[in-house]
Amino acid sequence: MIMNKIFLATMLVVLFSCNDDSSSSDDSSEEGVDISTVVINSFKNSYTNAVSVKVSDGYITISSTGLPDHKTPYWGVGHEMYEDFPGTNHANANTSMTTYNYAMRIPVVPSEATTKEVTELGAVGMAVNGVPIYNDYEGSGVLQENAWSTFDSSGAHPGPNKDYHYHCEGTYLTVDSNNLIGFLRDGYPVYGRKDADGTYPSNLDANGGHTGTTTDFTDAIYHYHVSNNVYSTSGLYVIKSGSYHGTKGTFTQ
Ligand SMILES: [Zn+2]
Ligand SMILES: [Zn+2]
Repeated sequence: MIMNKIFLATMLVVLFSCNDDSSSSDDSSEEGVDISTVVINSFKNSYTNAVSVKVSDGYITISSTGLPDHKTPYWGVGHEMYEDFPGTNHANANTSMTTYNYAMRIPVVPSEATTKEVTELGAVGMAVNGVPIYNDYEGSGVLQENAWSTFDSSGAHPGPNKDYHYHCEGTYLTVDSNNLIGFLRDGYPVYGRKDADGTYPSNLDANGGHTGTTTDFTDAIYHYHVSNNVYSTSGLYVIKSGSYHGTKGTFTQ
């Protein structure tokens, strides 16, 4: 009987040890959050219906035509989704937008890159409505007034190839909110300027992100935020600048 009690006590110690082990492995799994369910549930374009998500072999491919699901002057005067430019500047008024066959491929489980790659000119991510997200660069260099004067109320405009894209916070994506905006090419999500609890994050790294829970992810995950600093004299907030936190996937058109 005594031997049995000792044996039981030993077993309890072993069981508690096992619990300790499993909780410490939860901590290390911060780097390994599966994003597929959130991606599948978030990506949709209620106007064109032209956004689809496929998951296979550890990667998610999000396809879209790149047209928005909200009003912009770039639909063209007379279009049912037309609205005027904000303010009085119509610098890009004769430019229109066209459809593409975009496909962004991101990992199901994003991971931090050893060497952080600087984001480039062109699509650095995709908004949840399938529109590409650009950083703070234009063909001629960092965004200048000649570029932001062409933005619609969504902080977006078409490039020289009629490729509509977001650079900044705007009416239909987020304005000073904690909305999920989209995902960057490394698979990490981008949120508005605020965190889920309505406060502005105070510990963002040089790439505009940090690790924590969000309204979509109950396990802590690295995520970016729209910059909370006004960009130059534009009065606008740039969605992304700097480098990717993770390894960049492909974005084809
Ligand atoms: Zn642009
Ligand atoms: Zn955050």
